[in-house]
Amino acid sequence: MTIKNYPLRPVITYRCSNCTSKGPHEQQVLEWGIYEWLRQHPDEASNVWDNLRMKDAGYYRSFLVGNMALYRTSFVIISMFRLKL
Ligand SMILES: [Zn+2]
Repeated sequence: MTIKNYPLRPVITYRCSNCTSKGPHEQQVLEWGIYEWLRQHPDEASNVWDNLRMKDAGYYRSFLVGNMALYRTSFVIISMFRLKL
């Protein structure tokens, strides 16, 4: 399976600190662990964000963002980092 075969498309909407963008960023996440969770737990898909502590207070989060050679103006989240404060 590749990312294109998955029935769900994980997307994160966020604003970064000191953001100069007019609206929030809305980007697909390529982090392989999310797709592996969805493959192994198809009935618990919504838990993926809890597992990653994406909604928990007390965590600093950052994303490694990049784009594709063919779509240089459209960005995706390649990897996610979190640090307990
Ligand atoms: Zn921003």
